[in-house]
Amino acid sequence: MQTLEQIRAKLHDYPIEVAFPNIAEWQVGNTGVDYIHTFDSGVAGPHAMILALTHGNEVSGAITVDKLLRAGLRPLKGRLTLGFGNVEAYHRFDSRAPDASRFIDEDMNRVWSAERLDGCDDSQELRRARALRPIIDSVDFLLDLHSMHEEAPPLMLSGPLEKGIRFAIDIGVPEHVIVDAGHANGKRLRDYDAFGDPASPKNALLIETGQHFSIRSKDVALDAASRFLVQTGVVAAVDVTDFMQRATLSAQHVFEVTQPVIADTMDFEFMQDFRGLELIARAGTVIAHDGDKEIVTPYDDCVIIMPSLRHLGPGVTVMRLARVLNNW
Ligand SMILES: [Zn+2]
Repeated sequence: MQTLEQIRAKLHDYPIEVAFPNIAEWQVGNTGVDYIHTFDSGVAGPHAMILALTHGNEVSGAITVDKLLRAGLRPLKGRLTLGFGNVEAYHRFDSRAPDASRFIDEDMNRVWSAERLDGCDDSQELRRARALRPIIDSVDFLLDLHSMHEEAPPLMLSGPLEKGIRFAIDIGVPEHVIVDAGHANGKRLRDYDAFGDPASPKNALLIETGQHFSIRSKDVALDAASRFLVQTGVVAAVDVTDFMQRATLSAQHVFEVTQPVIADTMDFEFMQDFRGLELIARAGTVIAHDGDKEIVTPYDDCVIIMPSLRHLGPGVTVMRLARVLNNW
């Protein structure tokens, strides 16, 4: 059986192209919760929030929130909140083990259910999520900034509801929108409470900006965060123009995740060097081996979403499979 260290040793090593901002100066916020800063315009309007570092090594989000704070961005109407999530994990980042600081005790993007948050379990991440919860409860529009283990085009994860897809289309970036229900092993922030209620006007999106440590991911994060804020109406376009990419927007493509591929064993191998968004034409094509088991595409024109063995373990999602949705 392979160990995770042996598997990671075989994977591509990505250079760390960006500097990790020193976010210590943002520790004392104005909300009573460390690393959370909120600004009220005094004019009626929604509460928009950008959260970085739900995963501790996803630095493109930290660079973005640091930049927006440093720029002194203020809302035109409603309220703007900028914050950092798993700061303890971020502070433990070590370039010799760049995947290790995703979290400390457990994935902070799997704890967002009332059951976990109100329950008796304790972990570094639950403590932080419980501290953030009163702020999150007051947010109308949330953008959760993430990045990916492998280099791949950026993806907006809209959740399963039509309101999420519509929001992603209205923002206009990135080109690829993934419609998905999240994970069986715990609720994501973007699905938390009213965000996951089709009857509520509250809405949340999760963006995967590209490979964690690339310059491009940082640019994508800053661009998407700016467009998100303008779309909510909370921030004036003129205040974030400098953070937006100049290129004209491409038409967006929407993919609906039909199932995760969850590893059973540590002997999981992809048949190709998948990077994500590959389209496999024929149903029944073998795309991976999991121990003795073959993993095959369940339908024609099956799209590979976020393949990665970097966190391989029994029960871990190593890729998702999606259909192309043509009606958006
Ligand atoms: Zn993440």
